[in-house]
Amino acid sequence: MNGRDRELGMGRAITRRDLLGGMGIALSGSLLLPWASREALALPAEPNPPAPYPPALTGLRGSHPGSFEVAHAMRDGERWSDAEDSGETYDLIVVGGGLSGLSAAWFYRQKAVPEARILILDNHDDFGGHAKRNELHHQGRMLLGVGGTFNVEDYDAYGRAARRLLRSLEIDVTRDGEFRDRNLYDSLDMRGGFFFDRETFGTDRLVVGREAESRADFLARTPLSENARRSLVRLDDPMDYLPDLSRREKRDFLRGVSYREFLLETAGVHPDAMPFLATSDAYWAIGIDALSAWGALWSGYPGLGGLGFPDGEDGLSLNFPDGNASIARLLVQSLIPGVTPKGDKWNVTPPADMERIVTARLDYSQLDLEDARVRLRLESTAVHVAHRGAPSAAREVEVTYVQGGAARKVRAAHCVLACYNSVIPHLCPELPGEQRRALSLALKAPLVYTNVLLRNWTAFHELGVRRVRSPGCYHNSMRLARPIRIGDYRPSIRPEDPTVLFLARIPLEPGLSAQDQWRAGRLDLLTTTFETFEREIRDQLGRTLQAGGFDPARDIEAITVNRWPHGYAYGQDVETGDVAWVGDEVPPGRRSWELGRKPFGRIAIANSDAGGNAMTEAAIGEARRAVRDLAPRRSRRRRRG
Ligand SMILES: Cc1cc2nc3c(=O)[nH]c(=O)nc-3n(C[C@H](O)[C@H](O)[C@H](O)COP(=O)(O)OP(=O)(O)OC[C@H]3O[C@@H](n4cnc5c(N)ncnc54)[C@H](O)[C@@H]3O)c2cc1C
Repeated sequence: MNGRDRELGMGRAITRRDLLGGMGIALSGSLLLPWASREALALPAEPNPPAPYPPALTGLRGSHPGSFEVAHAMRDGERWSDAEDSGETYDLIVVGGGLSGLSAAWFYRQKAVPEARILILDNHDDFGGHAKRNELHHQGRMLLGVGGTFNVEDYDAYGRAARRLLRSLEIDVTRDGEFRDRNLYDSLDMRGGFFFDRETFGTDRLVVGREAESRADFLARTPLSENARRSLVRLDDPMDYLPDLSRREKRDFLRGVSYREFLLETAGVHPDAMPFLATSDAYWAIGIDALSAWGALWSGYPGLGGLGFPDGEDGLSLNFPDGNASIARLLVQSLIPGVTPKGDKWNVTPPADMERIVTARLDYSQLDLEDARVRLRLESTAVHVAHRGAPSAAREVEVTYVQGGAARKVRAAHCVLACYNSVIPHLCPELPGEQRRALSLALKAPLVYTNVLLRNWTAFHELGVRRVRSPGCYHNSMRLARPIRIGDYRPSIRPEDPTVLFLARIPLEPGLSAQDQWRAGRLDLLTTTFETFEREIRDQLGRTLQAGGFDPARDIEAITVNRWPHGYAYGQDVETGDVAWVGDEVPPGRRSWELGRKPFGRIAIANSDAGGNAMTEAAIGEARRAVRDLAPRRSRRRRRG
């Protein structure tokens, strides 16, 4: 270990149980559970290993080692012709245990067959898909982090089905203000800041906003050139840069240029300002060179406010300390009530409501019980889905999946594919060629959400900063956990106490098309070791917070890196191959997601991909639509029964 590594604390024992995964070793179908890691570390085996509890695992999570290798082998042509027939039959098999797959199971029981027998398959060791919970434990205290799907962002965008589902789970979005303390950091005089790194800006400097400070005064403290500062100040004035165009012409123009081109060529922004404006939030998971100016307008990026389009109102949002994982957990509880058994050990008296679910420790041993009506089978990758007989006449669908290296067949009257839609052409080769092509255009933008358990946040307090943008750094932004006090959950409210720091990384290759940047980003995520993530995190935190007395070797207690090589959903224009940043950019009839999601015999297609829209409301809405797509067959089946 070199001197810098020692300074950063690289050798320090932190809570990091997946050392094997961090070394990039392929563990086909393996269980990355606490005791598996004990073996990996050559520790003595525990006589009675506890039931697995994936939310508390740290290290490389999200698309964790062991979760994707089988699917990649399927993509590369491997077949499992010797699969054993399990004899298991169901009314419905759902492939994908994310919010869409769980919702599909829920709608199927609500709207179709209340007593239905359902099997849900997911390739991860935890359910929820992107909606993942990170638990970090410190001296007996549990702190929560958001591993993926962050929040209910805009409840106004939720359709009837999604609202009905949330209401049935007794999730009340109007209560957000009751749980979230919006004043904590203000009351401690802590604001937003910007970290200029020496590799991008020539010097390491943290500049923190001050109360009532003008933009010009803030920029004067930065290492940006005079030209860049002047441009940025001017950009704050709402100006119409396209005064001679009608609204429709403006819209068409903005759809045809990148935001970067708009800034440089239309708004006349100086090139020196570009690194400052480079997208550093994880809103689109793409840089300003590939995002259309129309997409940028939708998210309120600077320089577009004077073009005469109305500002979007922010609807109600709802934030759980573990993000929308709480919704996934409530859904699972509703499908499999046994996951919240009675007793102190589980921290909850069932059924848990939206408050109590936050601290409930769910019993994962109940997920896949033989006699249960709904079974959720983790670490199980579907590799083949086909009708038994001609799709128009078949009465069953057969699904082959791989778990622990062994392939098994299960059958059902119906199947909902709620997995990534681009997997489906490999999974279900009997679909018509045109549909397979459309499905293969379902894009997912890669991104990383990292949670770091800190011994305390005194350095942040000292510097008066609560969140930092850092477009030149490995992680493009960081912020202290939102203080959400819900049920028995207590967030960190004193700087001397431990807390969770949230960081986001968007791996990009500026200059390439969005598709190629995402391809490169995916590869980056799957080949980066945990050790590299850890070193980058320690280095970045050390440099950003140095003046506040932060010591990465002393202050970092645990790290959970949630990598999502297949993250935000986007559709494409099937004719031009353009990314549909905002759905209306592509005319009907050319939308890859609409052409891809058609039902086929007893198979229907869900997932947010099927809506060409990354958001939770799309995941739920598409689940409802997929179940409805199965309806004609369902009613015939019920009459028979
Ligand atoms: C980091 C991140 C942050 C986000 N934040 C927000 C947010 O704040 N608000 C919001 O509304 N949305 C957000 N999203 C979007 C999010 O994708 C959706 O809200 C929603 O969670 C998607 O659910 P889904 O079920 O459609 O897909 P997924 O969550 O991707 O679930 C699909 C599941 O199917 C599994 N699968 C794939 N192939 C197979 C196979 N062959 N066999 C078995 N299983 C398979 C996948 O591994 C996955 O577990 C975020 C996404 C990411 C990645």
